Amino acid sequence: MPDHFIPLSVPNLKGKELEYVTHAVETEWVSTGGPYVNDFEAKIAEYAKCKGAVSCQNGTAGLHIALELSGVTRADAVIVPTLTFIAAVNPVKYIGADPIFMDCDDSLTMDVSKLNAFCETECEFTGGKLINKTSGKHIKALIVVHVFGNMADMAGIMAVAGKYNLKVIEDATEAMGTYYSEGKYQGKYAGTIGDIGVYSFNGNKIVTTGGGGMILSNQEALLKRAKHLTTQAKSDELYYTHDEIGYNYRMTNLQAALGLAQLEQLETFIKVKKENYALYKRAIEAIPGLKLLDFKTGIRPNYWFYSLYVEPEYALNRDQVIRYLASKKIQARPIWGLISEQKPYAGSQTYQIEKARQYWERVVNIPCSSNLSADDVKYVVECLKHPEV
Ligand SMILES: *Cc1c(COP(=O)(O)O)cnc(C)c1O
Repeated sequence: MPDHFIPLSVPNLKGKELEYVTHAVETEWVSTGGPYVNDFEAKIAEYAKCKGAVSCQNGTAGLHIALELSGVTRADAVIVPTLTFIAAVNPVKYIGADPIFMDCDDSLTMDVSKLNAFCETECEFTGGKLINKTSGKHIKALIVVHVFGNMADMAGIMAVAGKYNLKVIEDATEAMGTYYSEGKYQGKYAGTIGDIGVYSFNGNKIVTTGGGGMILSNQEALLKRAKHLTTQAKSDELYYTHDEIGYNYRMTNLQAALGLAQLEQLETFIKVKKENYALYKRAIEAIPGLKLLDFKTGIRPNYWFYSLYVEPEYALNRDQVIRYLASKKIQARPIWGLISEQKPYAGSQTYQIEKARQYWERVVNIPCSSNLSADDVKYVVECLKHPEV
């Protein structure tokens, strides 16, 4: 047994974090003003080859703003995935709109053929509006999540959205750094293909600011309004006039200082994660009853989370795997509980949820930090090779 605990996904702060944060403290620019914020926004936009980026308090706040930018109101509905972290859906409820839950495909991202079938058979498209036949509500937008750093089928999503006049919000909170390496969207990063994309810099994400988020768009008007809404919708600096209800969702200079130092290391983090993924993949392939889920072809994933798939013939079931690994000082966890089955969403509309439940029953996330050493990976694999019942 190693002398240390092996966590699932933790921050890696070995670059210039301390230097930049110290500079922010020494110059006494610690709050929402200060040069690091603008710099961080500009560098993110440059990295993701996107027109602009607006920082915010966290990914959840970013998604809330994205829905406002999409014109979603309490009278409307929004299509969302059921297999994701609840923060992707809660903002729909902040606004008071109705979520409609979709299934995933084998990439764990939204099933485009079911999405299309839902729009075709369960809705009516009239006067440029997609109307949900069940509730009579106007479906204005969809939120697609690039689960675990994989890329959703954006060509398919954009085609359906185009056909039915839906705004596309990309929850790219787990997929910063993922891009298409071929095909229609070659060179395009997750979060920059739809109308609005959102990143998160929570502590478990590939880049962290402690807590933070970023709103991305290629549409100037949306970027401008995102900035406005995140800064209390203040339209006059001197006289404090406000033309609508805004939010205090700004990122601080301290957070941005941390983020800039992190961004400098992003490609290194992805390289380490890719190598560890390959190590796991080779070894796990040789263990009967276990497999490691693939990332899609045609993309360069960021390899954020690794998904171990526990087949029925393995000696342990999902929960036993998690408990067994914990006894070996290894942190693992099941995929999130389906959101459509959570208490606050009881009674929400769902459409043919099948695969999401299967994957929920069988997937275990295993250690994937960019701090993880090859020896750690080998130790995790050794444990999985010799399961103790
Ligand atoms: C992390 C995450 C969020 C929310 O980001 P925060 O910065 O923690 O608010 C939203 N959606 C998904 C899928 C996430 O993994």
